[in-house]
Amino acid sequence: MFMHQGRHFLQIPGPSPVPERVLRAMDMPVIDHRSAEFGELGRAVLEGSQTIFQTKGPVIIFPSSGTGAWEAAIVNTLSPGDKVLMVETGHFATLWRQMAGRFGIEVDFVPGDWRRGADPAVIEARLTDDTARAIKAVMVVHNETSTGATSRIAEIRAAIDRTGHPALLMVDTISSLGSVDYRHDEWKVDVSVSCSQKGFMLPPGLGFNAISEKARAAAKSNGMPRSYFDWEEMLKPNANGFFPYTPATNLLYGLREAIAMLLEEGLENVFARHQRLAAATRAAVNHWGLEILCQEPAEFSPVLTAVLMPPGHDADQFRKVVLDNYNMSLGSGLSKVAGKVFRIGHLGECNALTLLGALTGVEMGLSVAGVPYRAGGVDAAMKLLEQRPQGNASPH
Ligand code: PLP
Repeated sequence: MFMHQGRHFLQIPGPSPVPERVLRAMDMPVIDHRSAEFGELGRAVLEGSQTIFQTKGPVIIFPSSGTGAWEAAIVNTLSPGDKVLMVETGHFATLWRQMAGRFGIEVDFVPGDWRRGADPAVIEARLTDDTARAIKAVMVVHNETSTGATSRIAEIRAAIDRTGHPALLMVDTISSLGSVDYRHDEWKVDVSVSCSQKGFMLPPGLGFNAISEKARAAAKSNGMPRSYFDWEEMLKPNANGFFPYTPATNLLYGLREAIAMLLEEGLENVFARHQRLAAATRAAVNHWGLEILCQEPAEFSPVLTAVLMPPGHDADQFRKVVLDNYNMSLGSGLSKVAGKVFRIGHLGECNALTLLGALTGVEMGLSVAGVPYRAGGVDAAMKLLEQRPQGNASPH
């Protein structure tokens, strides 16, 4: 067995490393979830989450993973037999589609090659063609974690508006929220779905729905059976910071701290830092002579970079070499791209030096695994990171 020495580098695109501050904040006795003390915590995290989603409307926090929050979005707004429009951006869009199918939803799934985000023009054309207004919702994954392509939600919103179509807009922000600029209210998103273990820098276990008035109205008249994930059941006690059942108390302590950290740095600075680290990663990958999976520069993900292996080299074998030699976990290729890509996560508690450590591990791994590459990728990333960030952006 290989002996892992020193700190593990968790460079997968979520769960992301949990900062010491958040770990310490969670190291608390569990309190009575019906007490005034809990109500204070509940109110703080519900309000703080609104700031992160950039919404004045309600945010609901479920003790669930992101998949549960997907389910909540579906069962509260749609009815069996409803038609929706989804786009095949990658593995996670495919899974959300599969879930919708299980609830009896008819999905028009726009095919994709997993190398770009959702095309606003295609969504506009589909909605324009839908003269009967049968499509009840457009459902898009903002940051497709399996490919490293970020869809342009503001442009998708504008495309929907041009058609005057009344469909709801539902967006999976699971791997973008708290890392990539995301504006629930300004972009008139009806349901934003997220979770705790990515940009929020928490352990897995919390699922989020930010909801619009229109989504809430749809929930009052739709015909899908639901119980645990019913929004109204949550919203009543949430008004005073409480939950209808036992909440994940210690994760909420962590959430309060994580929100404080994001707001201390400033959301704009957080977004700029992710852009910078992503650009440095791409500089390294380009220098190595390896191919980035995402082919659309405007959609390069600030959260992760998926890298194609040269033909004849297995990505999982390479990831094993990196883990065994350097104690670093890289993301695997999922389903269609299994063995063909590895993913470098650069989200959450990540700064110039931790990223350079990660890129160094990748570069050494390429050498040890016998993958052809051009040495000097880390230097290329260093050159980019040497310059101080512009404006208010933090130097970290
Ligand atoms: N959607 C996206 C974009 C994801 O990246 C993930 C998980 O990585 C999910 C959905 C599923 O979330 P979870 O694994 O928390 O259920």
